[in-house]
Amino acid sequence: MRQQGRPGRWTRKGSVDPLTPFIKEKVPHSHIIGAGLAGLACAVALARHGIRSTLYESGPAAGGRCRSYFDRVLGCRIDNGNHLLLSGNSATMAYLDTTGARDTIGGSGLPRFPFVDLATGERWTVAPDLGVIPWWMFRRDRRVPGTRLRDYLALLALRRAGADATVAEALGPDGALYRRLLEPLAVAALNTPPELALARLLRTVVDQTLLKGGRACIPCLPREGLSESFIDPAVAWLGSRGGRLRTGCRVAALHQENRLVTALETADGMMPVGAGEAVVLAAPPWVAEELLPGLVAPDEFQAIVNLHFGVAADPGEAGLLGVLGGTAEWIFIKPGIVSVTISAANRIVDRPAEALAALVWPDVRAALRLEAAMPPVRVVKERRATFAATATQERRRPGPRWVAEAGLLHNLVLAGDWTSTGLPATIEGAIRSGDAAADAILDGA
Ligand SMILES: Cc1cc2nc3c(=O)[nH]c(=O)nc-3n(C[C@H](O)[C@H](O)[C@H](O)COP(=O)(O)OP(=O)(O)OC[C@H]3O[C@@H](n4cnc5c(N)ncnc54)[C@H](O)[C@@H]3O)c2cc1C
Repeated sequence: MRQQGRPGRWTRKGSVDPLTPFIKEKVPHSHIIGAGLAGLACAVALARHGIRSTLYESGPAAGGRCRSYFDRVLGCRIDNGNHLLLSGNSATMAYLDTTGARDTIGGSGLPRFPFVDLATGERWTVAPDLGVIPWWMFRRDRRVPGTRLRDYLALLALRRAGADATVAEALGPDGALYRRLLEPLAVAALNTPPELALARLLRTVVDQTLLKGGRACIPCLPREGLSESFIDPAVAWLGSRGGRLRTGCRVAALHQENRLVTALETADGMMPVGAGEAVVLAAPPWVAEELLPGLVAPDEFQAIVNLHFGVAADPGEAGLLGVLGGTAEWIFIKPGIVSVTISAANRIVDRPAEALAALVWPDVRAALRLEAAMPPVRVVKERRATFAATATQERRRPGPRWVAEAGLLHNLVLAGDWTSTGLPATIEGAIRSGDAAADAILDGA
């Protein structure tokens, strides 16, 4: 979040922030392209400083890749994909506090990660202590079966990993701890096969969660859905502070004059950008590259496949279950719906939905000990769910001020989980990018 007593308008010693000559006074209003989490978080951060925003969203509703909607096959609302959020995600928690949505988050309130290995039939629960000292690693019944205390020192190996080292190089690929905990966590957090995924992005996640102790590792699950927790309260909060959301309003071009964005071209007509107003480009990277020739942004992606089965099951203590030895990776159990996540899913995303359901349902039956025949199912494929968290893609992530620093446009900042947040593409990364874009605008004012 923006610091009090900020360094002012200086980015580097002796160099003026390129945004400042153009954003001299308090910015009266900002235009935000894209109402995903990054755009919303930016609008929320600006509103806290009295700056109103208009959000332009090409879709029918806000939320982007983190949204809920009514599904006709299942006859209920579902999320586009299960989102695993841990309590150590501090920017996300601050965002939920600001928008008044913290109490929409549920879960067991404990750091519990139950697993089943379908190949061996073994079941176990990783149960970190709430405190910082990891006593749980000393207790066989709370750590991963087949691991020894010294195996957990591998987590520190992440700190020694070279700049371009992959997760598999830094941590794996052998050993029970890797196969039964670190690999599944890495795939979930980075959405990239561990042989390609950048270890230092996992390190940031581990530093902010596992290594901070159990209190930072509590799974936070929306009580109702993603939109009800992360999107709708923010939109309402912004609305009550003069913010405006224009849905179905795709920005097709940026009109420029004297290195300033002067208007946004939309299907609803030209939206003028007034003198001193700021523009935030919070659309996905492929849209940002189209709107801003010259921008280099991530261009390789990994899919996530979610299968939502309309069946009731016992949620257990945690409401989720990690699955090894099958195609399903994580199962989330909600009232009347069992949802399965498969990450780093480029390898299977092109298969027909029926084939995927037939492949995954036996995993669900075995993992949850269900007798039922295959229930109604909705398969949701997000082909470009996140950028691939590789070394090459990491080098393509620009900072929020990149456009001004490159001398292209002085009143435009970037936001999105694909900007250089130091985190993989996650809710926390998207929200931090929105905060950073707001900071860039506020520091220029
Ligand atoms: C299936 C799935 C599962 C995931 N699981 C997790 C998880 O477990 N944990 C986690 O932390 N993260 C998870 N993520 C990642 C998380 O959802 C994203 O990191 C986050 O939502 C990205 O937000 P964003 O605002 O950066 O981008 P987006 O959500 O993509 O927002 C960009 C917005 O811009 C809009 N837009 C595009 N073009 C235009 C235009 N020309 N004009 C106007 N608007 C435009 C889009 O419609 C969209 O609403 C998952 C993502 C997916 C898809």
